[in-house]
Amino acid sequence: MPPFDSAAYATANQSRPDLIDGFGRAVRYLRVSVTDRCDLRCVYCMAEHMVFLPKAEVLSLEELDIMTSKFIAMGVRKIRLTGGEPLVRKGIMGLIENLSRHLASGGLDELTLTTNGTQLATYAEDLAKFGIKRINVSLDTLKPDLFSSLTRGGQIGQVLKGLDAAQAAGLAIKINTVALLGTNQDEIPDLIGWAHGRGFDLTLIETMPLGDTGQDRTTQFLSLATVRDHLASFWTLSDIPLQTGGPARYVRVAETGGRLGLITPMSHTFCEACNRVRLTCTGTLHTCLGHEDETDLRAVLRGPLGVDGLDSAIQGAIGLKPKRHDFQIREGLAPTLQRHMSRTGG
Ligand code: SAM
Ligand code: SF4
Repeated sequence: MPPFDSAAYATANQSRPDLIDGFGRAVRYLRVSVTDRCDLRCVYCMAEHMVFLPKAEVLSLEELDIMTSKFIAMGVRKIRLTGGEPLVRKGIMGLIENLSRHLASGGLDELTLTTNGTQLATYAEDLAKFGIKRINVSLDTLKPDLFSSLTRGGQIGQVLKGLDAAQAAGLAIKINTVALLGTNQDEIPDLIGWAHGRGFDLTLIETMPLGDTGQDRTTQFLSLATVRDHLASFWTLSDIPLQTGGPARYVRVAETGGRLGLITPMSHTFCEACNRVRLTCTGTLHTCLGHEDETDLRAVLRGPLGVDGLDSAIQGAIGLKPKRHDFQIREGLAPTLQRHMSRTGG
């Protein structure tokens, strides 16, 4: 397959239509899940014994580059690599180095990633070298035992070392914390204080009903409205109009001086300003995290039209992007969606 030259494509398609959906929203942000595999098994994300995809179904690094570059040529300005755990994908640093050409050419504003942090001690310096300026690191607790049980066997020391390395490499860090009822609930103020003390932003996330994890979601779900009320009983929280291209709403915590993000898919809808779509490691395009809608771009790329078939397939899918998600968590109800976050890309 010949390499796809997005700079040449953009020049030859000066009048290309932007990726605008049926509700007038421009799609500028692509999340790419580069693998469904992970070295951890977080209880809200994966089942204990996951069946991972066969290799042939997963896009090669070259195919990932072709597809991502195609989206950039069609107007996407921000790419977030995710997974599974992106840093356990073999050859991932080669992909990142290649994609960084779009930063150099001005075709892309930002290349970033979401990681569990376990491999950062090894890769942080190279990430910075390849133009990554900030990363999201997922961390739900600082307590070694709780970390180990929430991730089914992970070692918090590895993540803390990774964070040190990322900070030393000059990467800006945002911590993502899933708020879990009765689990890390009481630790949330300490986590925020710790993150802000180290100069990290922190964003709290409500659990979403994605995939069967072998656990009852109603026992995990904690509304961030409740958390915010609790924090406001001893801290001064003021709304700030920060827009990072994601669904978080931000507040400043006067006492810590830091920023706190709140992602509330369950208790609050953020769909009206949604500018993002997701590409899985099998080349399936999901235009909404909360719907079963999907377009098989791998079949197009590996089919007779190859790269040339991608434009119309992508535009057709974006045109049908749903207006809003329809998550719900109710006792005894199956997950709204059967696919796991680790496959869709968080
Ligand atoms: N492995 C990387 C990590 O953990 O950061 C990237 C992939 S992970 C699927 C991306 C994000 O999704 C993480 O912050 C994780 O906490 C979050 N996540 C996973 N399952 C979730 C769920 N059911 N509800 C809400 N967030 C979830
Ligand atoms: Fe792995 Fe991230 Fe899912 Fe945890 S949240 S199991 S680290 S993919």
